[in-house]
Amino acid sequence: MSPMLLEAEGLCASYGSYRALFGVSLALPEGSVMALLGSNGAGKSTLARVFTGLVASTGGTVRFAGCDITNLPAWRIARMGLVHVPEGRGVFGSLSVEENLVLSFRRRAGRSEVSTALERAYGAFPVLAERRRQQAATLSGGQQRMLSLAKVLAVPPRLLVVDELSLGLAPVIVDAVYDGLVAIRSNGTTLLVVEQQVDRALALADLAVVLAKGAVAWQGPAAGAATAMEGILGTGSVVDAGSRPGQPDSAGQPDRPGRPDSAGQPDSVGTGEGAGEMGRSC
Ligand code: ATP
Repeated sequence: MSPMLLEAEGLCASYGSYRALFGVSLALPEGSVMALLGSNGAGKSTLARVFTGLVASTGGTVRFAGCDITNLPAWRIARMGLVHVPEGRGVFGSLSVEENLVLSFRRRAGRSEVSTALERAYGAFPVLAERRRQQAATLSGGQQRMLSLAKVLAVPPRLLVVDELSLGLAPVIVDAVYDGLVAIRSNGTTLLVVEQQVDRALALADLAVVLAKGAVAWQGPAAGAATAMEGILGTGSVVDAGSRPGQPDSAGQPDRPGRPDSAGQPDSVGTGEGAGEMGRSC
């Protein structure tokens, strides 16, 4: 079995006095794709933000490539190669597609790498090559989302966390976005896909984790996730999945107030901008 690239153990997180995560544990092997599923408010985005340093954990640990990255600043996590493409678009509307890419690639990979990175980006998202001279603000929502994904391809991240890529997009556009993810994966990037469109995510994923009410309700091979989700969403409660390898959830553990969360940080902090030293060891 591949070594674990990302390991979470007993992760907890809060927004002020509101507890959003209760002892979440999971393990993501290098080279695989994990779908992070669950209904609205289950805690998926919060967990993604804790992994990438955008929200502080109030308990538990996160290890990335063998290093303890718990509560490191987002920019340091991004430099290590764990990059977050959050919900939304994060592109400069007044610049062209290519200007957006070149700006990002120069900052993150250096001038000499720009043409290779452009090739990689246009290979993953051919529609962006067709529209390279077009002002980003005039792209469709789906194309803007592709551009925000392409921007992280300056140096292929070791782990890419994508959040709600399909939100508000027409199915044909979602297909193109997911085709891009397949290309990114084939470049060697491990993926954690936060998604409400279960079928989309499971078609790509090897593994799945289902969150309910801030705790792991089920985890196992992607093939078993749809059935597990029916049980979880049907009853609204955590099911006892035989394949659950993680730690038990710690919903009963006392709250630990007083640790700040960083919910107010801008999403762009975690996108790896300026991460010219990606992949360096801890
Ligand atoms: P969705 O798919 O609707 O985004 P989710 O599974 O990603 O749902 P989160 O966004 O992680 O869920 O939210 C988990 C809980 O934390 C929800 O009850 C949500 O209202 C709450 N929450 C999320 N962000 C904040 C915030 N910045 N401040 C306060 N509470 C928040």
